[in-house]
Amino acid sequence: MIPLSARPLGNTGIRVSPLGLGTVKIGRDQGLKYPNRFKLPSDHEIRALFEEAKTLGINFIDTAPAYGTSEEKIGKLLLDRQDWIISTKVGEEFSAGESEFDFSGAHTRESVERSLRRLKTDYLDLVLIHSDGNDLDILEHTDCLDSLLRLKEEGLIRAVGMSTKTVEGGKRALALSDIAMVTYNSSHTEGSPVIDLARRTGKAIIVKKALNSGRIAREPGGNELALEFVLNKAGVSSVIVGTINPLHLRSNAIAVANFQAEGSSNPAPG
Ligand code: NAP
Repeated sequence: MIPLSARPLGNTGIRVSPLGLGTVKIGRDQGLKYPNRFKLPSDHEIRALFEEAKTLGINFIDTAPAYGTSEEKIGKLLLDRQDWIISTKVGEEFSAGESEFDFSGAHTRESVERSLRRLKTDYLDLVLIHSDGNDLDILEHTDCLDSLLRLKEEGLIRAVGMSTKTVEGGKRALALSDIAMVTYNSSHTEGSPVIDLARRTGKAIIVKKALNSGRIAREPGGNELALEFVLNKAGVSSVIVGTINPLHLRSNAIAVANFQAEGSSNPAPG
């Protein structure tokens, strides 16, 4: 297959592969809503997954402090850090089977400093606010974004944004920051106006749950149709698909490469 070609992440100056690797299942096996049970992969399996991703042209990896040991595993097992665009989050913590949220400025800074240590890096490419659903309230009534913007000024972060859960929050995140991460798939198109706004304003959209957390990919060829559906939407920079199965990773990358080879009419802005 032709390796995936990178594309602009809005106007951040960062280039990402159109398919990114989601890593919840690398570090956490509790409190998730996937249709199938799974076992956390071994270090050997994670390393092989990362190597396969790189071979396929994937340079974009998404993690979060709330994904259990995901950040630590990436710090330990991802080789050639400079070749990767790493996205992590702030605001949600997951311990003893429960999520807790803290969007204070002080916690935001501590969380970013901890991510730098866990990921064994001196900069983070993207940091997204991990919303609990109250997107607007977090953006307008907490110090979280201000704290991230200061960390960006200090050179510890290259771009900031929010993983959103509402349309109004997505639009506000685009007005105030670089990126919105939105849910978008054929069963959930509510995020469409947010993606349209990003296309008009040159901001970046990252799509999560393109396979509706795996439900869409249960039919043969379902992943191809789902990825084509998302990447056909003008304004989408990249789609993050979570997988711990190298065969699924390859199948998803082939679907995206075929889409690119057909000459998509959807250049991301930037
Ligand atoms: P998703 O990408 O729609 O679905 C992932 C599921 O699909 C996994 O269980 C995976 O299982 C399965 N899958 C992937 N490729 C497949 C294929 N070719 N054939 C069959 N099954 C396939 O949804 P998600 O995991 O909920 O979200 C993706 C990523 O987005 C996460 O990993 C995370 O990085 C990010 N995310 C962020 C937030 C947030 O910020 N609030 C929320 C949710 C997700 P296998 O492991 O068996 O392949």
